[in-house]
Amino acid sequence: MKPYLYFEGLIELAKKLKGTEVIHVGIRPYGFHAGNAMTFVVYPYLLCKYLEKEGKKARFNFVVSINDWEQDFLDGPDTREYPFNIFPKNTSIYFVPDDNGCCASIVDHWQPIIEQKMLGLKDTFSGVSFQFVRNSTLIDHPFCQELLLKTIENPREQLELIKANSNKKTLQDPVQYAGAICPKCHRAHGKTLVFGGNRISWECDECHYKQEGDIKDFQYWWYHKPMFLARIEIFKIDVTLSGGDHFSEGDFNIRKAYIEKYSPNTKEPYMLFTPTVLAQDGQKMSKSRNNTASADIKKFIKAVDGFTGKEIVLTEDLIETDIYEKDYSYTV
Ligand SMILES: [Zn+2]
Ligand SMILES: [Zn+2]
Repeated sequence: MKPYLYFEGLIELAKKLKGTEVIHVGIRPYGFHAGNAMTFVVYPYLLCKYLEKEGKKARFNFVVSINDWEQDFLDGPDTREYPFNIFPKNTSIYFVPDDNGCCASIVDHWQPIIEQKMLGLKDTFSGVSFQFVRNSTLIDHPFCQELLLKTIENPREQLELIKANSNKKTLQDPVQYAGAICPKCHRAHGKTLVFGGNRISWECDECHYKQEGDIKDFQYWWYHKPMFLARIEIFKIDVTLSGGDHFSEGDFNIRKAYIEKYSPNTKEPYMLFTPTVLAQDGQKMSKSRNNTASADIKKFIKAVDGFTGKEIVLTEDLIETDIYEKDYSYTV
């Protein structure tokens, strides 16, 4: 299998797909900027459009990962220079309060907005369906438990796998890709130890609370690369849709290596990567870089339709300035 890259990859894949496949997209549920719009709205829209141009009907089922177990903010020696030597600054997104002040958590605030943005696809392609899944709910699946335990127990094994499949630089330390969140103070800093029979223990560096219990008794942070394999296997994903920055990090080869090492019977999905959205400062648009802007979805779809490059700048004319959160319509 090869990666399907940008617009040309999309056209090729549209020819290949039946229209009934399960497609995965994932998001950190704490915002919705133009980079998110690219993978969540623009590329799904264009994939449906070009599939139907081939005389097929778009009936895709989109499995939408609400990544509430990811780090609240990335921390580490240098998160850009060494992207695999990272850990959460404080906690997982699961425990981040709503900065708008109106909901129980930031996830509760953003999930309905994310859902509405995607559901807009149905206005044009009525046959598509959606399954919105918070990653924290995957803990009930035995494969998720098994992979999470392995991630906690042997992070070096994962670093070796990632290193062998990426051109990015790595350090020997710190190396950790998952851990429990303190049940008492909700911080991520501490020691998680794995025993047999799905039992773990937690000792908090911040409040010194200790607890031992079943893996299902805790909440976690979990790096998205191993967590990705859990989702591919559990939902039998046929196609993954991701931003081009994932391709640059080596994710095409890394995902294949994860399948081979931890779940060789998992079917390798088609992997479609979108162009990376750059902010006007020329940097990748990202909430952690504080350079996000919202796209005017109709204009953005038009700009991306036929665009064959790997990076696209969100120019002034594509920015949505007058955002009315309740108006989610973008049918073109
Ligand atoms: Zn809210
Ligand atoms: Zn604590």
